[in-house]
Parts: sequence; C-alpha cells; structure tokens
Amino acid sequence: MRTPMVAGNWKMNKGLYETRDLIREMYPVLHAVEGVEVVICPPFVGLGVAKREVEASTIKLGAQNMHWADSGAFTGEISPTMLKELCEYVILGHSERRAMFGETDETVNKKVLAALAHGLKPIVCVGETLEENQSGITAEVVSRQVRADLEGLNQEQAEQVVIAYEPVWAIGTGLAATPEGANAVHKDVIRPILRDMFGETIGDGMRILYGGSVNPGNAAELFGQSDIDGGLIGGASLKAESFIALVKAAM
Ligand code: PEP
Repeated sequence: MRTPMVAGNWKMNKGLYETRDLIREMYPVLHAVEGVEVVICPPFVGLGVAKREVEASTIKLGAQNMHWADSGAFTGEISPTMLKELCEYVILGHSERRAMFGETDETVNKKVLAALAHGLKPIVCVGETLEENQSGITAEVVSRQVRADLEGLNQEQAEQVVIAYEPVWAIGTGLAATPEGANAVHKDVIRPILRDMFGETIGDGMRILYGGSVNPGNAAELFGQSDIDGGLIGGASLKAESFIALVKAAM
C-alpha cells in the first residue's frame, strides 16, 4: 500500500553541467519507472537544469534544505516559495545540518510547516548518534525527534511527509544498520508514533525510508523489510550505475 521511494541526496556534489550529465546517464533506465518513486536532490544551483532534464519523466526532484520564511533579509538562504517552482520534495533536518549548521528540532519543525504550507513535501530526517546508540537510547532520541519535528501537523499535512531514519553512525561510514535493526526502529519506534499522532490509517500510510551506507549489495535486504519503504541515499546516488541498482532493488 505504500509506494517505495528511492531518493538521492547528492549533498554538496555536482555543479550545473555535472548535474545535467548525471541525470542524462540515469535517464534511459529511470525516466519511466513504475512502482517506485525516484527522487533526485541535487544542490540548489542544479535544480533549474535538473527540472528541464526530468520534466518529461516520472523522476521527481527535491532540495536538500530550505529556510522557513517566504522571503526577506536571510543572506544565502532559499525559501519555500522559490523551491516550489523547482521541485516537489525537500529534505529537512539532515544530520549534517543538525551537526554542522545548528539545526534543532524546533527549526526543523518550522521548516516542515513552511514547506507544507507551500505545497512542498518534506523528507524529514531523524536518527541517533553513535554515542546515543551505544547508550541504548535510540528509541528515546528518535521518538523525541519525530514528535518534535512533526508537531502541529494535521492529518492532511502528515500524509505529505516522508520520514527518513538515518542513524548518524551509518551515514557515509560504509557501516549500514542491519536490516532487522533498522526495521525494528521503523516498525516499533517510528510507526507507532505516527499512528499515535495522526491515526492508524495515516500512520500506516506514511513512508519511512532508511538511510546510511545503502549500496547495491545491501539494498534488497534492507528494502525487503516490512517497514522500510525505500532509501535516502548519499554516496551511492552519485553514480548512475549504483543509483539505478538501488531503484531496481526497491521494485
Ligand atoms: C545521507 O547522507 O543521507 C546518506 C544516507 O549518506 P550515505 O548513503 O552516503 O551513507
């Protein structure tokens, strides 16, 4: 009942021409995929060219961050009104933004509400650090993040949201969570909170992606779990061959 999603977070990689070229490499295989929602999230500067490249296809675009205000004196920032002309999704609360750019659950929540107010669909990232994991407080940390990041959303808004569970210790390390371990967080921690906040039907319908060192070797097993509805992919989304393999693994 939930359509799997495979979303590529390119992070601060690929300029304008590289964005065009990488999309053109993937395009022959990915332009008309059915049964999996394929999302590409290039840096802001690539979104315009990416839009032109994918507009005749089923490939969707996302941004990697956003300010919550519509416009104003926020040097260097990008607003939801700007993004909605370019893309459908926006990644919010990525752990790199939380760790390096001071994002908190409070600012993530403001961004989630602003994105939804403008018709953008948030991909909200949550996940525990290595220290938190080793202290046995994963459930506590992830629960707090999900509740705070989605505070104040109504059911209709919640339906537009995708959650990405990304244990910080698994991002870019080559050390993915085990499929069973990740699924346990999705199924026993995040899903019950979504059901509690938005009701059983909406909570069961919301997608929860896994992110953290997903690669063509481990994707099928991860995506095969009951509550893992696809992946948010960093490193392996930067090569056409591996990203295509991940989309196929989610079919
Ligand atoms: C990410 O940054 O969202 C991510 C999951 O990265 P990687 O796939 O490289 O671990």
